[in-house]
Amino acid sequence: MDPARGKAESRRRGSIRPHYGGFQVRVTAGVDPTTGERIILHETVATRREAERALTRLLAEADAWKSARTKASFGALLDRWLAGHEVAITTRVTYESLIRNHIRPALGTVPLTKLHRGAAEILESFYGDLRRCGRRCDRRPFVEHRAPGVHDCTELGCAPHRCRPLAASSVRQIHAIISGALSAAVRWGWLPFNPAEAARLPARLKPQPHPPSARDAARIIEAAWERDAEFGLYVWLAMVTGARRGELLALRWHHIDLDAAILTVRRNYVRANGEGHDKDTKSHQMRRLSIDAATVELIKRHRAACEQMFAVLGFEIEDDQYVFSAEPDHTRPRDPSSMTRRYGRMVKELGIDTHLHELRHYSATELLTAGVDLRTVAGRLGHGDGTTTLRHYAAWVTTADQHAASVVSAHLPRPPHATS
Ligand SMILES: [Zn+2]
Ligand SMILES: [Zn+2]
Repeated sequence: MDPARGKAESRRRGSIRPHYGGFQVRVTAGVDPTTGERIILHETVATRREAERALTRLLAEADAWKSARTKASFGALLDRWLAGHEVAITTRVTYESLIRNHIRPALGTVPLTKLHRGAAEILESFYGDLRRCGRRCDRRPFVEHRAPGVHDCTELGCAPHRCRPLAASSVRQIHAIISGALSAAVRWGWLPFNPAEAARLPARLKPQPHPPSARDAARIIEAAWERDAEFGLYVWLAMVTGARRGELLALRWHHIDLDAAILTVRRNYVRANGEGHDKDTKSHQMRRLSIDAATVELIKRHRAACEQMFAVLGFEIEDDQYVFSAEPDHTRPRDPSSMTRRYGRMVKELGIDTHLHELRHYSATELLTAGVDLRTVAGRLGHGDGTTTLRHYAAWVTTADQHAASVVSAHLPRPPHATS
Protein backbone atom coordinates (compact mmCIF):
# COMPACT_ATOMS: atom_id res chain seq x y z
CA MET A 1 0.00 0.00 0.00
CA ASP A 2 1.12 3.57 -0.68
CA PRO A 3 2.50 4.74 2.72
CA ALA A 4 0.84 8.15 2.44
CA ARG A 5 -2.48 6.52 1.80
CA GLY A 6 -1.88 4.11 4.68
CA LYS A 7 -1.32 7.04 6.97
CA ALA A 8 -4.50 8.75 5.79
CA GLU A 9 -6.34 5.50 6.41
CA SER A 10 -5.06 5.42 10.00
CA ARG A 11 -6.10 9.03 10.47
CA ARG A 12 -9.63 8.21 9.54
CA ARG A 13 -9.75 5.52 12.22
CA GLY A 14 -8.26 7.78 14.85
CA SER A 15 -8.41 11.43 15.85
CA ILE A 16 -6.64 13.90 18.14
CA ARG A 17 -8.59 16.83 19.49
CA PRO A 18 -8.02 19.50 22.15
CA HIS A 19 -9.60 18.54 25.40
CA TYR A 20 -9.52 20.54 28.67
CA GLY A 21 -6.12 22.06 28.00
CA GLY A 22 -4.70 18.74 26.77
CA PHE A 23 -5.51 16.38 23.95
CA GLN A 24 -7.89 13.52 23.61
CA VAL A 25 -7.02 10.65 21.30
CA ARG A 26 -9.84 8.50 19.98
CA VAL A 27 -9.55 5.40 17.86
CA THR A 28 -12.32 3.25 16.42
CA ALA A 29 -11.69 -0.42 17.01
CA GLY A 30 -14.55 -1.72 14.93
CA VAL A 31 -18.13 -2.64 15.71
CA ASP A 32 -19.31 -5.10 18.28
CA PRO A 33 -21.27 -7.70 16.29
CA THR A 34 -23.55 -8.59 19.18
CA THR A 35 -24.66 -5.07 20.11
CA GLY A 36 -23.87 -3.16 16.91
CA GLU A 37 -22.07 -0.50 18.98
CA ARG A 38 -18.86 1.08 17.84
CA ILE A 39 -15.91 0.21 20.07
CA ILE A 40 -13.91 3.35 20.84
CA LEU A 41 -10.53 3.35 22.57
CA HIS A 42 -9.61 6.71 24.04
CA GLU A 43 -6.96 8.38 26.12
CA THR A 44 -6.33 11.94 27.32
CA VAL A 45 -2.78 13.31 27.41
CA ALA A 46 -1.09 16.67 28.08
CA THR A 47 0.96 17.41 24.94
CA ARG A 48 0.63 17.09 21.21
CA ARG A 49 3.73 14.83 21.09
CA GLU A 50 2.25 12.47 23.66
CA ALA A 51 -0.98 12.51 21.71
CA GLU A 52 0.83 11.39 18.54
CA ARG A 53 2.47 8.58 20.44
CA ALA A 54 -0.82 7.58 22.08
CA LEU A 55 -2.48 7.53 18.66
CA THR A 56 0.11 5.11 17.29
CA ARG A 57 -0.30 2.90 20.34
CA LEU A 58 -4.10 2.92 20.29
CA LEU A 59 -4.16 2.19 16.57
CA ALA A 60 -2.05 -0.89 17.25
CA GLU A 61 -4.40 -1.86 20.05
CA ALA A 62 -7.37 -1.26 17.79
CA ASP A 63 -5.89 -3.62 15.22
CA ALA A 64 -5.68 -6.25 17.90
CA TRP A 65 -9.19 -5.39 19.02
CA LYS A 66 -10.66 -5.69 15.61
CA SER A 67 -9.96 -9.35 15.96
CA ALA A 68 -11.53 -9.40 19.39
CA ARG A 69 -14.99 -10.18 18.17
CA THR A 70 -17.11 -9.01 21.04
CA LYS A 71 -17.13 -6.98 24.20
CA ALA A 72 -17.96 -10.20 26.00
CA SER A 73 -17.58 -10.43 29.74
CA PHE A 74 -15.03 -12.77 31.24
CA GLY A 75 -17.95 -14.87 32.52
CA ALA A 76 -19.15 -15.47 28.96
CA LEU A 77 -15.67 -16.54 27.95
CA LEU A 78 -15.51 -18.96 30.91
CA ASP A 79 -18.83 -20.55 29.88
CA ARG A 80 -17.68 -21.06 26.34
CA TRP A 81 -14.28 -22.33 27.39
CA LEU A 82 -15.58 -24.80 29.95
CA ALA A 83 -18.19 -26.16 27.55
CA GLY A 84 -15.53 -27.20 25.08
CA HIS A 85 -12.78 -28.08 27.53
CA GLU A 86 -12.10 -31.76 27.84
CA VAL A 87 -10.90 -32.78 31.29
CA ALA A 88 -11.33 -35.70 33.63
CA ILE A 89 -14.61 -35.67 35.55
CA THR A 90 -12.95 -34.94 38.91
CA THR A 91 -11.02 -32.01 37.46
CA ARG A 92 -14.22 -30.67 35.95
CA VAL A 93 -16.00 -30.84 39.30
CA THR A 94 -13.12 -28.96 40.95
CA TYR A 95 -13.08 -26.37 38.16
CA GLU A 96 -16.81 -25.83 38.36
CA SER A 97 -16.71 -25.31 42.09
CA LEU A 98 -13.76 -22.88 41.89
CA ILE A 99 -15.52 -20.97 39.13
CA ARG A 100 -18.83 -20.85 41.00
CA ASN A 101 -17.42 -19.96 44.41
CA HIS A 102 -14.52 -17.70 43.55
CA ILE A 103 -13.94 -16.71 39.94
CA ARG A 104 -17.42 -15.80 38.79
CA PRO A 105 -18.34 -13.65 41.81
CA ALA A 106 -15.13 -11.65 41.35
CA LEU A 107 -14.60 -11.51 37.59
CA GLY A 108 -17.77 -12.82 35.93
CA THR A 109 -19.06 -9.43 34.81
CA VAL A 110 -15.70 -7.81 34.09
CA PRO A 111 -15.53 -7.02 30.35
CA LEU A 112 -12.74 -8.85 28.57
CA THR A 113 -11.44 -5.53 27.30
CA LYS A 114 -10.88 -4.33 30.85
CA LEU A 115 -9.38 -7.60 32.03
CA HIS A 116 -7.12 -7.60 29.01
CA ARG A 117 -5.71 -4.17 29.74
CA GLY A 118 -5.23 -4.55 33.47
CA ALA A 119 -4.85 -8.30 33.92
CA ALA A 120 -1.74 -8.40 36.09
CA GLU A 121 -3.12 -5.80 38.50
CA ILE A 122 -6.66 -7.19 38.58
CA LEU A 123 -5.57 -10.79 39.02
CA GLU A 124 -2.84 -10.12 41.57
CA SER A 125 -5.22 -8.17 43.78
CA PHE A 126 -7.84 -10.93 43.37
CA TYR A 127 -5.31 -13.60 44.37
CA GLY A 128 -4.10 -11.45 47.26
CA ASP A 129 -7.68 -11.13 48.52
CA LEU A 130 -8.16 -14.88 48.36
CA ARG A 131 -4.96 -15.44 50.32
CA ARG A 132 -6.29 -13.12 53.04
CA CYS A 133 -9.80 -14.58 53.14
CA GLY A 134 -11.22 -17.26 50.86
CA ARG A 135 -14.59 -15.52 50.96
CA ARG A 136 -13.05 -12.12 50.24
CA CYS A 137 -15.05 -10.52 53.01
CA ASP A 138 -14.88 -6.76 53.68
CA ARG A 139 -13.48 -7.40 57.18
CA ARG A 140 -16.81 -6.54 58.81
CA PRO A 141 -18.19 -9.21 61.13
CA PHE A 142 -20.97 -11.42 59.79
CA VAL A 143 -22.47 -14.83 60.45
CA GLU A 144 -21.71 -17.67 58.07
CA HIS A 145 -25.09 -19.32 57.57
CA ARG A 146 -25.08 -22.99 56.77
CA ALA A 147 -28.32 -22.81 54.83
CA PRO A 148 -30.09 -20.18 52.72
CA GLY A 149 -33.47 -18.76 53.71
CA VAL A 150 -35.14 -18.86 57.11
CA HIS A 151 -33.61 -21.36 59.49
CA ASP A 152 -32.62 -21.92 63.10
CA CYS A 153 -28.99 -20.82 63.41
CA THR A 154 -28.35 -22.62 66.71
CA GLU A 155 -29.73 -25.85 65.33
CA LEU A 156 -27.53 -25.74 62.22
CA GLY A 157 -24.55 -24.37 64.12
CA CYS A 158 -24.09 -21.18 62.04
CA ALA A 159 -21.04 -19.35 63.39
CA PRO A 160 -19.45 -15.91 63.04
CA HIS A 161 -17.17 -15.69 60.01
CA ARG A 162 -13.47 -16.12 60.59
CA CYS A 163 -11.15 -15.18 57.76
CA ARG A 164 -9.23 -18.14 56.43
CA PRO A 165 -6.89 -17.88 53.48
CA LEU A 166 -7.63 -19.96 50.43
CA ALA A 167 -4.82 -22.51 50.00
CA ALA A 168 -2.01 -21.44 47.68
CA SER A 169 -2.65 -24.57 45.61
CA SER A 170 -6.29 -23.55 45.09
CA VAL A 171 -5.25 -20.06 44.03
CA ARG A 172 -2.84 -21.63 41.55
CA GLN A 173 -5.68 -23.77 40.22
CA ILE A 174 -7.86 -20.69 39.89
CA HIS A 175 -5.10 -19.06 37.91
CA ALA A 176 -4.81 -22.13 35.67
CA ILE A 177 -8.52 -21.82 34.87
CA ILE A 178 -8.36 -18.08 34.16
CA SER A 179 -5.24 -18.43 32.07
CA GLY A 180 -6.68 -21.44 30.23
CA ALA A 181 -9.83 -19.51 29.31
CA LEU A 182 -7.83 -16.48 28.19
CA SER A 183 -5.51 -18.51 26.02
CA ALA A 184 -8.57 -20.05 24.38
CA ALA A 185 -9.69 -16.46 23.69
CA VAL A 186 -6.35 -15.91 21.93
CA ARG A 187 -6.84 -19.04 19.80
CA TRP A 188 -10.32 -17.86 18.83
CA GLY A 189 -9.05 -14.43 17.85
CA TRP A 190 -10.84 -12.58 20.66
CA LEU A 191 -7.59 -11.35 22.18
CA PRO A 192 -4.16 -10.70 20.70
CA PHE A 193 -2.24 -12.25 23.60
CA ASN A 194 -2.87 -13.92 26.94
CA PRO A 195 -2.76 -11.15 29.55
CA ALA A 196 -2.81 -13.55 32.52
CA GLU A 197 0.73 -14.65 31.85
CA ALA A 198 2.09 -11.50 33.45
CA ALA A 199 0.33 -12.05 36.79
CA ARG A 200 2.34 -13.23 39.75
CA LEU A 201 1.20 -16.29 41.65
CA PRO A 202 1.44 -17.29 45.29
CA ALA A 203 4.43 -19.58 45.75
CA ARG A 204 3.85 -23.27 45.59
CA LEU A 205 4.17 -24.74 49.05
CA LYS A 206 6.51 -27.64 49.54
CA PRO A 207 4.58 -30.81 50.21
CA GLN A 208 5.18 -31.93 53.78
CA PRO A 209 4.45 -35.58 54.27
CA HIS A 210 3.96 -36.77 57.85
CA PRO A 211 4.03 -40.55 57.58
CA PRO A 212 3.24 -42.48 60.76
CA SER A 213 6.27 -43.86 62.59
CA ALA A 214 7.04 -47.56 62.15
CA ARG A 215 5.68 -48.17 65.66
CA ASP A 216 2.42 -46.35 64.92
CA ALA A 217 2.14 -48.11 61.56
CA ALA A 218 2.33 -51.46 63.36
CA ARG A 219 -0.42 -50.39 65.78
CA ILE A 220 -2.55 -49.15 62.88
CA ILE A 221 -2.36 -52.37 60.90
CA GLU A 222 -3.05 -54.41 64.03
CA ALA A 223 -6.15 -52.38 64.80
CA ALA A 224 -7.29 -52.67 61.18
CA TRP A 225 -7.00 -56.49 61.24
CA GLU A 226 -9.01 -56.50 64.45
CA ARG A 227 -11.85 -54.53 62.83
CA ASP A 228 -12.26 -56.87 59.92
CA ALA A 229 -10.15 -58.87 57.52
CA GLU A 230 -11.11 -56.89 54.42
CA PHE A 231 -10.35 -53.55 56.00
CA GLY A 232 -7.11 -55.00 57.32
CA LEU A 233 -6.06 -56.07 53.84
CA TYR A 234 -6.93 -52.66 52.44
CA VAL A 235 -4.71 -50.89 54.99
CA TRP A 236 -1.98 -53.49 54.48
CA LEU A 237 -1.97 -52.97 50.71
CA ALA A 238 -1.95 -49.20 51.16
CA MET A 239 1.20 -49.59 53.25
CA VAL A 240 3.06 -52.11 51.11
CA THR A 241 2.15 -50.78 47.67
CA GLY A 242 1.83 -47.05 48.40
CA ALA A 243 -1.11 -47.03 45.97
CA ARG A 244 -3.63 -44.17 46.15
CA ARG A 245 -6.93 -44.62 47.95
CA GLY A 246 -9.00 -44.93 44.78
CA GLU A 247 -6.44 -47.09 43.00
CA LEU A 248 -6.84 -49.79 45.63
CA LEU A 249 -10.62 -49.43 45.59
CA ALA A 250 -10.63 -49.94 41.81
CA LEU A 251 -8.73 -53.24 42.14
CA ARG A 252 -10.50 -56.20 40.55
CA TRP A 253 -9.42 -59.80 40.86
CA HIS A 254 -8.00 -59.89 37.35
CA HIS A 255 -5.59 -57.10 38.31
CA ILE A 256 -3.83 -59.45 40.69
CA ASP A 257 -1.62 -62.28 39.47
CA LEU A 258 -1.04 -64.35 42.59
CA ASP A 259 1.27 -66.85 40.87
CA ALA A 260 3.57 -64.15 39.52
CA ALA A 261 3.10 -62.05 42.69
CA ILE A 262 2.21 -58.98 40.62
CA LEU A 263 -0.46 -56.44 41.33
CA THR A 264 -1.41 -54.19 38.42
CA VAL A 265 -2.63 -50.69 39.18
CA ARG A 266 -4.66 -49.71 36.18
CA ARG A 267 -7.65 -47.70 37.35
CA ASN A 268 -8.65 -45.15 39.94
CA TYR A 269 -12.06 -45.09 41.57
CA VAL A 270 -13.39 -41.64 42.38
CA ARG A 271 -16.71 -40.13 43.24
CA ALA A 272 -17.79 -36.87 41.67
CA ASN A 273 -21.22 -35.21 41.62
CA GLY A 274 -22.63 -38.05 43.68
CA GLU A 275 -21.62 -40.70 41.16
CA GLY A 276 -18.79 -43.22 41.15
CA HIS A 277 -16.30 -43.25 38.28
CA ASP A 278 -13.86 -46.03 37.59
CA LYS A 279 -11.33 -44.10 35.54
CA ASP A 280 -7.74 -44.02 34.37
CA THR A 281 -5.06 -43.62 37.04
CA LYS A 282 -4.00 -40.09 37.92
CA SER A 283 -0.92 -40.24 35.72
CA HIS A 284 -2.77 -42.24 33.00
CA GLN A 285 -0.25 -45.00 33.29
CA MET A 286 -0.74 -48.51 34.46
CA ARG A 287 1.94 -49.90 36.68
CA ARG A 288 2.85 -53.38 37.75
CA LEU A 289 3.91 -53.78 41.36
CA SER A 290 5.70 -56.78 42.73
CA ILE A 291 4.24 -57.99 45.99
CA ASP A 292 5.93 -60.17 48.57
CA ALA A 293 4.96 -63.68 49.69
CA ALA A 294 3.23 -62.47 52.85
CA THR A 295 1.02 -60.13 50.83
CA VAL A 296 0.20 -62.87 48.33
CA GLU A 297 -0.87 -65.08 51.25
CA LEU A 298 -3.11 -62.37 52.70
CA ILE A 299 -4.77 -61.74 49.35
CA LYS A 300 -5.34 -65.48 48.88
CA ARG A 301 -6.97 -65.62 52.29
CA HIS A 302 -9.31 -62.72 51.43
CA ARG A 303 -10.20 -64.34 48.12
CA ALA A 304 -10.99 -67.61 49.87
CA ALA A 305 -13.24 -65.75 52.33
CA CYS A 306 -15.05 -64.07 49.43
CA GLU A 307 -15.49 -67.41 47.67
CA GLN A 308 -16.91 -68.90 50.80
CA MET A 309 -19.36 -66.05 51.27
CA PHE A 310 -20.38 -66.19 47.61
CA ALA A 311 -20.96 -69.96 47.84
CA VAL A 312 -23.47 -69.34 50.64
CA LEU A 313 -25.29 -66.85 48.40
CA GLY A 314 -25.08 -69.15 45.40
CA PHE A 315 -22.62 -67.01 43.36
CA GLU A 316 -19.25 -67.78 41.95
CA ILE A 317 -16.37 -65.39 42.19
CA GLU A 318 -15.67 -63.62 38.89
CA ASP A 319 -12.50 -62.01 37.77
CA ASP A 320 -13.95 -58.60 37.13
CA GLN A 321 -15.41 -58.30 40.61
CA TYR A 322 -13.92 -55.76 42.95
CA VAL A 323 -11.50 -56.93 45.62
CA PHE A 324 -12.95 -54.47 48.12
CA SER A 325 -16.70 -54.01 48.15
CA ALA A 326 -19.60 -53.47 50.48
CA GLU A 327 -21.99 -55.17 48.05
CA PRO A 328 -22.74 -58.86 48.60
CA ASP A 329 -21.80 -59.64 44.98
CA HIS A 330 -18.76 -57.28 44.87
CA THR A 331 -19.95 -55.53 41.73
CA ARG A 332 -19.37 -52.05 43.12
CA PRO A 333 -16.27 -50.60 44.81
CA ARG A 334 -16.38 -49.12 48.25
CA ASP A 335 -16.97 -45.42 48.67
CA PRO A 336 -13.63 -43.54 48.86
CA SER A 337 -14.65 -40.98 51.45
CA SER A 338 -16.24 -43.55 53.73
CA MET A 339 -12.90 -45.39 53.64
CA THR A 340 -11.17 -42.20 54.75
CA ARG A 341 -13.69 -41.67 57.54
CA ARG A 342 -13.43 -45.24 58.75
CA TYR A 343 -9.66 -44.98 58.85
CA GLY A 344 -9.94 -41.60 60.60
CA ARG A 345 -12.16 -43.03 63.35
CA MET A 346 -9.77 -45.91 63.89
CA VAL A 347 -6.61 -43.80 64.26
CA LYS A 348 -8.47 -41.38 66.49
CA GLU A 349 -9.29 -44.22 68.84
CA LEU A 350 -5.61 -45.19 68.77
CA GLY A 351 -4.69 -41.60 69.60
CA ILE A 352 -2.57 -41.25 66.43
CA ASP A 353 -2.85 -38.00 64.51
CA THR A 354 -2.75 -39.09 60.87
CA HIS A 355 -4.96 -39.74 57.86
CA LEU A 356 -5.33 -42.37 55.15
CA HIS A 357 -3.18 -40.66 52.53
CA GLU A 358 -0.19 -40.73 54.88
CA LEU A 359 0.04 -44.48 54.27
CA ARG A 360 1.23 -43.69 50.76
CA HIS A 361 3.91 -41.45 52.29
CA TYR A 362 4.70 -44.19 54.77
CA SER A 363 5.36 -46.64 51.95
CA ALA A 364 7.52 -44.15 50.05
CA THR A 365 9.61 -43.01 52.99
CA GLU A 366 10.17 -46.56 54.30
CA LEU A 367 11.52 -47.55 50.89
CA LEU A 368 13.75 -44.49 50.60
CA THR A 369 15.20 -44.80 54.11
CA ALA A 370 15.88 -48.48 53.42
CA GLY A 371 18.04 -47.31 50.52
CA VAL A 372 15.75 -48.23 47.62
CA ASP A 373 16.66 -45.96 44.72
CA LEU A 374 14.53 -42.99 43.74
CA ARG A 375 13.53 -44.38 40.34
CA THR A 376 12.19 -47.59 41.78
CA VAL A 377 10.24 -45.68 44.42
CA ALA A 378 8.87 -43.27 41.81
CA GLY A 379 7.84 -46.27 39.71
CA ARG A 380 5.98 -47.92 42.57
CA LEU A 381 4.17 -44.70 43.45
CA GLY A 382 3.17 -44.08 39.84
CA HIS A 383 4.96 -40.75 39.67
CA GLY A 384 5.90 -39.99 36.07
CA ASP A 385 9.57 -39.57 36.94
CA GLY A 386 11.72 -38.99 39.99
CA THR A 387 11.08 -35.22 40.08
CA THR A 388 7.72 -35.44 41.83
CA THR A 389 9.06 -38.06 44.23
CA LEU A 390 12.06 -35.92 45.01
CA ARG A 391 9.87 -32.86 45.59
CA HIS A 392 7.80 -34.78 48.13
CA TYR A 393 10.47 -36.79 49.85
CA ALA A 394 13.70 -34.81 49.57
CA ALA A 395 14.30 -35.14 53.31
CA TRP A 396 14.20 -38.95 53.15
CA VAL A 397 16.35 -39.07 50.04
CA THR A 398 19.00 -37.21 52.05
CA THR A 399 18.81 -39.84 54.79
CA ALA A 400 19.29 -42.59 52.22
CA ASP A 401 22.22 -40.66 50.77
CA GLN A 402 23.84 -40.29 54.20
CA HIS A 403 23.55 -44.00 54.62
CA ALA A 404 25.12 -44.49 51.18
CA ALA A 405 27.99 -42.21 52.15
CA SER A 406 29.15 -44.52 54.91
CA VAL A 407 28.76 -47.81 53.02
CA VAL A 408 32.14 -47.81 51.31
CA SER A 409 34.25 -46.22 54.03
CA ALA A 410 32.96 -48.64 56.66
CA HIS A 411 35.04 -51.44 55.18
CA LEU A 412 38.24 -49.52 54.52
CA PRO A 413 41.19 -49.57 56.92
CA ARG A 414 42.01 -46.25 58.60
CA PRO A 415 45.53 -44.69 58.27
CA PRO A 416 48.02 -46.24 60.75
CA HIS A 417 48.59 -43.08 62.84
CA ALA A 418 44.96 -42.06 63.20
CA THR A 419 44.07 -42.02 66.86
CA SER A 420 40.64 -43.01 67.88
ZN1 LIG B 1 -27.82 -19.37 60.11
ZN1 LIG C 1 -13.14 -12.99 55.82
